[in-house]
Amino acid sequence: MSDLEPVVVSPDAGDALVSYCRDRFSHCTVVSDERTWEVAGRAIAEALESAGVKVGTIHLHGEEVVADERFLTDGFVQADVDTEAFIAAGSGTITDITRFISHRMRRAFISAPTAASVDGYTSKGSPLVLRGVKKSIYSHAPEALFADSSVLREAPHELTAAGFGDIIGKITSIADWRLGHLVWEEPYDDAIAERTLDTVRQSVDARREIGHGEDAEILTLMNALIESGLCMLDFGASRPASGAEHHISHFWEMQLLRDGKPGILHGAKVGVATVMVCRLYERVRSLDAAAVKRQLESTTPPAFDEECSMIHSAYGSLAGDVIEAHRPLLGLRGSVLEGIQERILTNWGRIRKIVDEVPETETVREYLRDAGAPTEPSEIGLSPELAQQGLLSGHFLRDRFTIAKLVRVLGLNPG
Ligand SMILES: [Zn+2]
Repeated sequence: MSDLEPVVVSPDAGDALVSYCRDRFSHCTVVSDERTWEVAGRAIAEALESAGVKVGTIHLHGEEVVADERFLTDGFVQADVDTEAFIAAGSGTITDITRFISHRMRRAFISAPTAASVDGYTSKGSPLVLRGVKKSIYSHAPEALFADSSVLREAPHELTAAGFGDIIGKITSIADWRLGHLVWEEPYDDAIAERTLDTVRQSVDARREIGHGEDAEILTLMNALIESGLCMLDFGASRPASGAEHHISHFWEMQLLRDGKPGILHGAKVGVATVMVCRLYERVRSLDAAAVKRQLESTTPPAFDEECSMIHSAYGSLAGDVIEAHRPLLGLRGSVLEGIQERILTNWGRIRKIVDEVPETETVREYLRDAGAPTEPSEIGLSPELAQQGLLSGHFLRDRFTIAKLVRVLGLNPG
């Protein structure tokens, strides 16, 4: 289990944060953007000062803060070298920037989430956009987390709905992880998979109240997001919480950045991508063992050159990095392909069980709609072409075996 202590999600979290910091540090730095300074950062800074703690600030300015080279540099430049702890007063991006800066400066990192919008608060990796490519860079988890429920309640509903979308993504990320374990021999931990699925069950039960902005259920969602983050922390990688739906979401994010278009909330993209990935599961669900055998015998996955040219047309100048990272799964041939095919056939019963446990696409769409979250690419401003490109090329981003790979190996049409 993780040693993150304490985790406080309550109306008194602000007071708990101040006494925690006062007992340990004489100098803290509060990191926020314009909105989160108003809703949380300022109050934290003033309360710490009243408690006798010296307080510095890092203000990240701009319409849209991105965890990229520019904002990281901005943060480092404002960081006081004498500070003992960095407090992230913000949602996902502020937290990731603070996580990275505090880690590289070897200072304590405290998380003070301002929205139930994402499950990354408690994770170790910082998802950063470096030279236009989204990567998870090793850093550290917060040593403590204080989520003030009165602050979470005031967050714009689209942020809370995005948090619900991020949790709904665990439906396919866990199924993908189980496939990856059976077919690509990826490390797997069933207890962590079950803990992650519990976060889905709790959030799905609370979905209508989350949609209505009810306090108690927003706390349920926040606790689910924290638990999902702890599952990643305990496993030591993002695998439990990130499958094909996250790869598609990361792909869209990179394309929007490249084109200079405004970003879309992480969980909103993940929710929409999860609906698309559920359709892939439906395709596989229609096959019986005999059909799978026929498909494997009659299918040759795309060749190395063919996949490289797909990556070039989808990723442009980023293609070289993507090809390098994805090399083990490119142009599957020979003994590697035979091994995959054999494991699919041998484990077909177990694979079918995994596939059957993924709810129908329409059910997942209803969950999202009940929580007030988007379900279609058009609702979040994605063109049909970009949406489709994510489905076809998102899986090249990670060398993980997901339903997107299974569909290719089986020769099924993903689109
Ligand atoms: Zn996520």
